[in-house]
Amino acid sequence: MFKNNPSAQMSYDTQEQLAKDSRAEAERQVKEYKLKLETGFGFPIVVNELGASQGAGGTVRSVWNQRVKCEHHSIDLAHCDAWLRPARLAHELMHIDLECRADVAGVRKTNVGKRPLKEMLRLYDLMPHQEGLLRKLLSYSMNVPVDMLVDASLLRQFPILKPAMFVSACRFQEKNLAQDLSRESMPANFRAALEALRTASALFTDETYGHATRFFAPFRGTPAGKMAEQLYHAFLKSFPLIKPGGHYELVDRFGTIIGFPNLHAWDPRPCWKLVPVQTPKPAGSGYDFNVEQAILDTGAVSAGSVPSYDAIIKQVMREKNSQAGNDGFSLRLDDDFSIPAKIQWGARPAPPSKTAIPDGQRMEGKRGRRVREISHQCIPAMASAV
Ligand SMILES: [Zn+2]
Repeated sequence: MFKNNPSAQMSYDTQEQLAKDSRAEAERQVKEYKLKLETGFGFPIVVNELGASQGAGGTVRSVWNQRVKCEHHSIDLAHCDAWLRPARLAHELMHIDLECRADVAGVRKTNVGKRPLKEMLRLYDLMPHQEGLLRKLLSYSMNVPVDMLVDASLLRQFPILKPAMFVSACRFQEKNLAQDLSRESMPANFRAALEALRTASALFTDETYGHATRFFAPFRGTPAGKMAEQLYHAFLKSFPLIKPGGHYELVDRFGTIIGFPNLHAWDPRPCWKLVPVQTPKPAGSGYDFNVEQAILDTGAVSAGSVPSYDAIIKQVMREKNSQAGNDGFSLRLDDDFSIPAKIQWGARPAPPSKTAIPDGQRMEGKRGRRVREISHQCIPAMASAV
């Protein structure tokens, strides 16, 4: 991994071995942590283990961030080495912890879009086809600050996870920094904000793990690097004094520093109360079909209303995996911006499915499980993303 930095490679190898050696104790502590959250805050935490081909990272959704009311938190945990799993799971659990503590303090909020995406595209001088870039900024500006807080809190609470977290962070930075945004045309202030956010994440890794790595070095002194330093210092200033719900303020602070103070808005109501009701179009009326709505609202897909149930699954997974492959930030907290809320079907109608499920009939068995897995992954966190 570290072709030009043998000392970083040595640290990496040593930490990997340490993580493997401490796996059993790490597992025990994380299991205990999960139980403590469940009993302390009163909601079970459902962990779905994803398959090897289902993307990297993890997705977490607290009780209040579900689009359909339910009484449990959910975590989709991507496939990873067994010795990395405790740290990966603990990361998602800490996200839930932050939300639960905010709820108990009466300050929990749902992230909602300040404006519809189309309006934001115009406002930031982006072309209509650049929605992916906008989603990236929305995602980075949320995930970078909150993940700093999550990881710093974890290291304080579970020092045993540090070796595995270091390895995870190095793997993440390798993907994060490999992204080449230079060929993409976009307004200069937008590019600066994106670059600063991902660079701040690199700086955090270097600083947090005792400068064993030099991910930030190429950016030091550049405009992105300078802005990244401001972001990191904002985090350092907040962290020791952080109160329940402080992560929402940190996200807003990051937005101000990068020059996009109006990216996010917050609502104290749970997500399921904010989701606009949509009715799937009747059969034959078009192919701009809201997949999640059909799956979640009816619990089954009505015969004739969907071109093919398997086509939906494949399309969602294709979108998901293509995002995961290109974007190191994919599939992290509320990173459902990476999944289009609407799947645009091609101009050519697909033939009616032979396997369509009759109206009102709930899916069971293998197919039902797949629906639940996908419903956790593809629900946009922001009501306005719908
Ligand atoms: Zn996270």
